[in-house]
Amino acid sequence: MNITHLYIHVPYCAKLCYYCDFHFSLNLKTRGEYVDAVCNELALRGEWFSQPIETLYFGGGTPSLLTQKELTRILSAIREKTSLSPNAEFSFECNPDDITEAYCKTLLELGVNRLSIGIQSFFDDDLQLLNRRHSGETARNAVKIAQNAGFQNITIDLIYGLPNMTMERWKHNLAEVEKLNVQHLSAYSLMVEEHTALHKFVRTGKFLLPSEESVLEEFNYLIDWSQQSGFEQYEISNFAKNGMQSRHNSSYWKGEPYLGIGPSAHSFDGDRRYWNISHNAKYISSIQNGIIPCETEMLSHRDKYNELIMTGLRTRNGILCETVKTVFPDYFHSFEQHKKSYLDKGLLQEHNGRISLTRNGILLSDAIMSDFFVTE
Ligand code: SF4
Repeated sequence: MNITHLYIHVPYCAKLCYYCDFHFSLNLKTRGEYVDAVCNELALRGEWFSQPIETLYFGGGTPSLLTQKELTRILSAIREKTSLSPNAEFSFECNPDDITEAYCKTLLELGVNRLSIGIQSFFDDDLQLLNRRHSGETARNAVKIAQNAGFQNITIDLIYGLPNMTMERWKHNLAEVEKLNVQHLSAYSLMVEEHTALHKFVRTGKFLLPSEESVLEEFNYLIDWSQQSGFEQYEISNFAKNGMQSRHNSSYWKGEPYLGIGPSAHSFDGDRRYWNISHNAKYISSIQNGIIPCETEMLSHRDKYNELIMTGLRTRNGILCETVKTVFPDYFHSFEQHKKSYLDKGLLQEHNGRISLTRNGILLSDAIMSDFFVTE
């Protein structure tokens, strides 16, 4: 196999954020066995590696709960199977209150060159409402500590559409991003996922969600702000300065193969999707028995077309029409019809043979994508 993008899922957190539906455990006792299992899964996945890794991403959960020793072991296991290309992007997700000068130095020594800091908001009452571990002040300091330690590529996450959010507060959060002089921002609207504490709080009336109009207004402001602040919106929720786009996440949107290691990690080989079991103890015991606990699904021709639409239209780069013509000739007629209709409405734009959403199109992206989808 031919993957150049590697993801390591670290399924531990120190506290449960109310909105989160990622896979993680608050029980940190199995961490040592988890590290062993990850090293063994890397060995079992040997046939996936045939060329140097271009992007490596530690996500979670909370990777910054891992110690230098644990990270060193995982990186050695990676190096036993493959190498990192000399200019590989190595991203690492951190919780603000795990960031110290010493931890940053460790990460830099290990080769991390892109730090992703989950801030979400700079207001303490928002952070308490979401049950985050850190304060606004800790978040600001974390960025400064990382910058002083030598990180030159820092991305932060923010959430809009929060229960208490006013436009003034959203503007304040974005102004903080500008002051901190980071290279990248991921900004998501608050999603109420089933089986989360937030879902229960909304259902029982403990949390009142803002209106759709005010969320849209915040998203609109975000786009204006990004244009004035030198950030390019290269994907619906992602903004980068001076070409500092995430190469790892961009590979997902380009439909490139990747390998995910760890409980709940997903992989894609170009034809098939694989997903590991979302249960730490079962993952560890299965790997101890030499079996990767994963399910798999072969993508149909139609699935691949719909994924091209979904991932392509999320990005500024859009979709190359020639690709649809050559790879999906059976869907090309329907593609052209939708394309024409949305170009006429000003919701799509065409440039150099590629189509992408216009500013108004981005606001209606879900509806436009589902119109393009082939369902039978
Ligand atoms: S730190 Fe991240 S992964 Fe962990 S509970 Fe919070 S949002 Fe979820």
